[in-house]
Amino acid sequence: MIKQSALNPDNASFRETVPAGEYFLKVVKAGETIRILDLEGNQAADTLFYNAHNPTERYSVTDTIRAQGNVYLTAGSVLMSSENNPMLEITADTCGRHDTLGGACAAESNTTRYALEKKCMHACRDSWLVAVTEHEELGMTKRDITHNINFFMNVPVTAEGGLTFADGISDAGKYVELEAKMDVLVMISNCPQLNNPCNGWNPTPIEVLVWS
Ligand SMILES: [Zn+2]
Repeated sequence: MIKQSALNPDNASFRETVPAGEYFLKVVKAGETIRILDLEGNQAADTLFYNAHNPTERYSVTDTIRAQGNVYLTAGSVLMSSENNPMLEITADTCGRHDTLGGACAAESNTTRYALEKKCMHACRDSWLVAVTEHEELGMTKRDITHNINFFMNVPVTAEGGLTFADGISDAGKYVELEAKMDVLVMISNCPQLNNPCNGWNPTPIEVLVWS
């Protein structure tokens, strides 16, 4: 569902550009709104959410899909935690659909999907591992890297229930905005993927804005 935001970027309390292949880590407080902006179009922002005070509570794909009765995420979707608490609500969306079924790219999946020599290519799971390794204070490890959302990525479900990685439906300047319902640690991998069409084979930067 397309829904424009009423927020003015000039009033944002935080703005940062995240190059393709980099991670982004920030606590968004309850009541704050975060926007992820697809600067050049067809980018995938692979995102994990945690309770900022207890990262063992984290975004849950299954609870979110069950609660809303739909596999796609868009304006109105409430992202549920592994403890069945609302974490964030998508309050604006100019892309219209985001994937939470396809998972994140990894050295292993690149190898099995594409070719053996892709094993050394940079992948989203590597970016998250770098994030938790560079932030020991979080007390998180590889085991904490679980279900994610692929903002701006298009993974349509066929009539037979199959998953297909399709051309992106996002475009330059499209964004998704989420209001935090609890203090949330946001961990984004701005996807470096070169092998599937989720990035149009051309990874590009995103911008993150927060309104307090
Ligand atoms: Zn990726």
